[in-house]
Amino acid sequence: MSKKWVYFFANKQAEGRADMKDILGGKGANLAEMTNLGIPVPPGFTISTEVCKYYYDHGKTYPEDLKQQVDEALKRLEEVTGKRLGDPERPLLVSVRSGAAVSMPGMMDTILNLGLNDETVVGLAKLTNNERFAYDAYRRFLQMFGDTALGIPHAEFEKALEKRKEEKGVKLDVELDADDLKALVEDYKEIYKKHGKEFPQDTYKQLWAAIDAVFGSWMNERAIKYRQINNIKEGELLGTAVNIVTMVFGNMGDDCGTGVCFTRNPNTGEKIPYGEFLQNAQGEDVVAGIRTPVPLEELKKINEAVYNELLSIMERLEKHYRDMQDIEFTIEKGKLYILQTRNGKRTSQAAIKIAVDLVHEGLIDKETAVMRVKPEDVERVLHPKFDDEEVKNAKVIAKGLPASPGAATGKVYFDAKKAEEMHKNGEAVILVRPETSPEDVGGMNAAEGILTARGGMTSHAAVVARGMGKPAVVGAEEIVVDEEKLEFKVGDVVVKEGEWISIDGTTGNVYLGKITTVKPQGLEGEVAELLTWADEIRRLGVRTNADVPRDAKVAREFGAEGIGLCRTEHMFFEKDRIPKVRRMIVAKTKEQREAALAELLPLQKEDFKGLFRTMKGLPVTIRLIDPPLHEFLPHEEDQMKEVAEQVGITVEELKSIVEQLHELNPMLGHRGCRLTITYPEIAVMQTKAIIGAAIELKKEENIDVIPEIMIPLVGHINELKYVKKVVKETADALIKESGIDLTYKVGTMIEIPRAAVTADQIAQEAEFFSFGTNDLTQMTFGFSRDDVGKFLPEYLEKGILEHDPFKSLDWEGVGQLVKMGTEKGKAARKDLKVGVCGEHGGDPRSILFFDAAGLDYVSCSPYRVPVARIAAAQATIKNRK
Ligand code: PEP
Ligand code: MG
Repeated sequence: MSKKWVYFFANKQAEGRADMKDILGGKGANLAEMTNLGIPVPPGFTISTEVCKYYYDHGKTYPEDLKQQVDEALKRLEEVTGKRLGDPERPLLVSVRSGAAVSMPGMMDTILNLGLNDETVVGLAKLTNNERFAYDAYRRFLQMFGDTALGIPHAEFEKALEKRKEEKGVKLDVELDADDLKALVEDYKEIYKKHGKEFPQDTYKQLWAAIDAVFGSWMNERAIKYRQINNIKEGELLGTAVNIVTMVFGNMGDDCGTGVCFTRNPNTGEKIPYGEFLQNAQGEDVVAGIRTPVPLEELKKINEAVYNELLSIMERLEKHYRDMQDIEFTIEKGKLYILQTRNGKRTSQAAIKIAVDLVHEGLIDKETAVMRVKPEDVERVLHPKFDDEEVKNAKVIAKGLPASPGAATGKVYFDAKKAEEMHKNGEAVILVRPETSPEDVGGMNAAEGILTARGGMTSHAAVVARGMGKPAVVGAEEIVVDEEKLEFKVGDVVVKEGEWISIDGTTGNVYLGKITTVKPQGLEGEVAELLTWADEIRRLGVRTNADVPRDAKVAREFGAEGIGLCRTEHMFFEKDRIPKVRRMIVAKTKEQREAALAELLPLQKEDFKGLFRTMKGLPVTIRLIDPPLHEFLPHEEDQMKEVAEQVGITVEELKSIVEQLHELNPMLGHRGCRLTITYPEIAVMQTKAIIGAAIELKKEENIDVIPEIMIPLVGHINELKYVKKVVKETADALIKESGIDLTYKVGTMIEIPRAAVTADQIAQEAEFFSFGTNDLTQMTFGFSRDDVGKFLPEYLEKGILEHDPFKSLDWEGVGQLVKMGTEKGKAARKDLKVGVCGEHGGDPRSILFFDAAGLDYVSCSPYRVPVARIAAAQATIKNRK
């Protein structure tokens, strides 16, 4: 038997079904399904996507038996409609539309009113008793067919139309009468001739030309580009289907009309039918914006019976598809037709509300709801966004990396201190810096948002902004910041201190001027409920990266189950600490250094008590000092004097120390465990602070804490052994002295490729691992975290890399190290806890990998905790399959 290429649908019976999207396309499958449901769909047939594949595989030819199958379907269609293609008395008119398995709105071709020619137009005029309508349909067809099937520029037809209107002295198309349109038809035919083309009067030829055009449009530039942008890979889809459907007309008088409706409000998700309707019009009039449609409720006044029928169909379709539907309908002489249904596009807020409501209504289960919501939806409803209308009219002046989501608007300040000052005066501030450093943290905290000209997704600005939940755009390389002149330039645009800009940390866009921001919804209501379902499903734990109690508190409220990374050095930058830290660094002897550390000890202990108290019994991983020491010293001439005085040395001495500490590659230099190997007394102080804090909390407030002390940047087991010994001796002595039974763990970051490769050895010493995927990515690719912004955009643009590897884990390279490290580590130590605390811990695509690789938890900045919860649940479901 020959293969089936054509699927017919009419009168409550269709050869296709909803689950045949792959071969019928989304539109064709749903037309078939609706027909089977008894919904009034105009009859027609679908030529399958397999024909499209055949067409391109065989030098743009069709399967041999296709013609016969199309002829048979056409014959059936003529029988059920009682009309015939090309019949001058009762002409059958059809639409010919594309439709792939994945919706590609407006990318491929559509032809309406096919079947009209010089004879059938007369028949149509008689049948409808409306000559104007018939010639309007004819000229529209000539236009669409010429443009789509024969490649005659659309604009030429438009020009002819405009000319006719001008000559008549009218503005609107509807003001042209039948005679005008007849003349226009002749104008259009002239245009065909001018282009050396002939309009086929043979309606059967029209049909095949239209089929060719639709299949041809699968490979037009627009469609190819759309598939690229939307990550639809070559070969993932078979192609487009072609739907040939009997025309129904919404423009045959006031008892006609056309509209689009949603079964729920796609903006808010409320369960209220929503939509628009236009009386006496065709779909293209709505799209062209010539006339403004009225709200759906108006239809009730015009024709209550049709309105009620539509509402009941909407309800049926939603129940049937178990999701909010976006439906196109037409009313022809008081009779309702449904032309299309599909799952409706919706805002983030609506996506969450609809998913949760559908569970309560018993239409879907919790897992389906969790899978339906995108992690970005959760993120979006927790951050401010721009007013939709205002942002449409705003001018984008630059684009950077979307480092920390949310929208912010404020006056530009270039100096962190000034930013703090202006914030105190009640100003909304955007801090603009070439890049940020730990000294800018105060200003960052005071700002509504942060914009930097340099830096990647793990630059200081990006990491700190995410931690604070502040919108940030980083690495906007087109921007040139002039800190002397207090302005920044981007192309011809100059923005001076105090002028307004707006940034969108979700898209990376930088806008000129002020744009109203809308407050986020917060973690309550439907989002909160959805996340509790995610918690029931997910296998991975979710912790947070937090350095201070304030962040830890936010993270707990967002559902964090512990702290996966406390970067202790961030505490060193507080005003009361930094002089002491600097004294420790410039110390000439061990005694001097210990004296400075002794001053830091009580302060750091208080920090840890604050964190432990906030986390109440949840695990807290504290990392020993990590960054190179030069980061704590001033580099600007004007600060040297002040700092020299602070620490009691001369400016020359200070300069010479800064010089000594200077490194060509600080990220690969004297940092991490290398520092505590040189200066074990720093590890001693930090251990005393951590263990001391836990002991005091137990004694004073009866709070149990299991501190996890983490040693960074280990590459060789002996590094870990050395530092661990210092930590253990200090901790054990303190515990013994306290008389309290306190358990603690010592583990390590795995962030150097060598550590991942020798993870079995390292697990002999480490009681837990936490993958530092920021450094691990840096060292695996050999890309500097801080300079990657210079070339990464090109890498992404030229398709050399698909994702920014500092944002989304490189599965094939860095990921394999994570996998190997986890397997080797767990094989060597059964109860080894393995987590990740690099920025990837909050990225859904990376989380999918971490779940499959068998990690125990991910740790991310507080505001990403909800995103990680939903992404982890989705990972559990996906990896189960
Ligand atoms: C990492 O390298 O992934 C990490 C978490 O540490 P940091 O970003 O502080 O270097
Ligand atoms: Mg690191």
